[in-house]
Amino acid sequence: MKVLVIGAGVGGLALARGLVADGHRVRVFEKAPGLRSSGGALTLWSNGAGIVAELGGALEGAGAPIDVLAQYEAGGRPLLRMDMVPAVRRYGWQHVCVPRRRLVRLLADGLPEGSVSFGRECTGVVQDGDGVRVDFADGSGAAGDVLVGADGHHSVVRRALRGREACKPSGWATWQGMERVPLDLVAGREGRLIIGREGMCGLLPAGEGLLQWWFDRPWRPGEPPPESPLAELRRWFGHWKSPVPEVLASIGGEEIEVFPHCRHPVPRTWGEGRCTLVGDAAHTMPPAQAQGANQALEDAWALTLALRGASDVPAALRRYERRRAGHAAFASLAARTEYVNRYLPSLHRLVPDRLTGPAYTWWLRSVSGYLAALPR
Ligand SMILES: Cc1cc2nc3c(=O)[nH]c(=O)nc-3n(C[C@H](O)[C@H](O)[C@H](O)COP(=O)(O)OP(=O)(O)OC[C@H]3O[C@@H](n4cnc5c(N)ncnc54)[C@H](O)[C@@H]3O)c2cc1C
Repeated sequence: MKVLVIGAGVGGLALARGLVADGHRVRVFEKAPGLRSSGGALTLWSNGAGIVAELGGALEGAGAPIDVLAQYEAGGRPLLRMDMVPAVRRYGWQHVCVPRRRLVRLLADGLPEGSVSFGRECTGVVQDGDGVRVDFADGSGAAGDVLVGADGHHSVVRRALRGREACKPSGWATWQGMERVPLDLVAGREGRLIIGREGMCGLLPAGEGLLQWWFDRPWRPGEPPPESPLAELRRWFGHWKSPVPEVLASIGGEEIEVFPHCRHPVPRTWGEGRCTLVGDAAHTMPPAQAQGANQALEDAWALTLALRGASDVPAALRRYERRRAGHAAFASLAARTEYVNRYLPSLHRLVPDRLTGPAYTWWLRSVSGYLAALPR
């Protein structure tokens, strides 16, 4: 089968890996001039890490293993220790925080030479009963048996299939980056979430001596980003207890990216005929649960299985969408509440640490068809 994939992000590349291994002919079209080399790190939980390994991407040595997420108040008081090890024991896959550029490169490196074409911006999709055709901004086109929109948050393919659907802002935004910071945290297996009245700060080791840091703040839709984000971050969070001031002092300021959070509704059916969607194109969600890329990997895994030996392609695509919609909608719903960003110290302290391991193990399975299918 000839499969056209629009977008060379985590979802598109992972899908291409799965389909190529199954013997399909795959072409990936990416509008950027090359693979994404910027951005912070992504946390792959047992579901995402297991799928990357199944697709043949060896994560060993990439990023940093994560065993614990420790929550603190801005004033330094410990709130809760989320123990993630029981999930690793149960599912067999270590959670890992890995630089996005490293993950994308690892997925792309396993593809046959010439599978990914850069500088090709998809502008339209036309399908008839037997095939699909895509048009590109440079006037060229391509034809195939199946088309997959893996073109992210502002998906052109989603718009062509489903019309314009507003992505609803959640009222929060993230400023993030990755830095070499002289803190013990960088060499450990523990992440920190620090919560205060001004918002939330997250810190995770990302391997190679790097710290993935982010700050979440309430954000009015349409509000212009600050001209000097670093100065604003220091103004908002600089008075918090250690290690926040040390992290803010280490930030260079050039690579600070701001991401307003927003959420698409997750429909039961994502595509039509021989076209479907994976990843953010189907279900953009706020990063509050760090499941977006993990859900894109779940899509890639499920779609690879659905197309394996399929004779009725549209029926196989609809089956894939139905199978994925429930888990993706659940992950999106949990991310919508942004509760991890809220200053509710007394509530967080009410949760006994010993419950966090079993609760997290259950939660991961409830958003993952991949983990649910593992033998018990
Ligand atoms: C601040 C932040 C932190 C996050 N942290 C995590 C985390 O820790 N863990 C996690 O699981 N998720 C995280 N996420 C979510 C995660 O980044 C996304 O869910 C994930 O990148 C989605 O992958 P994707 O392949 O669907 O889309 P993308 O990664 O957005 O890739 C889409 C690709 O399509 C290309 N493209 C777009 N339009 C076109 C077009 N018309 N033609 C051709 N190509 C096109 C783009 O250039 C891009 O390369 C985070 C998100 C944010 C904003």
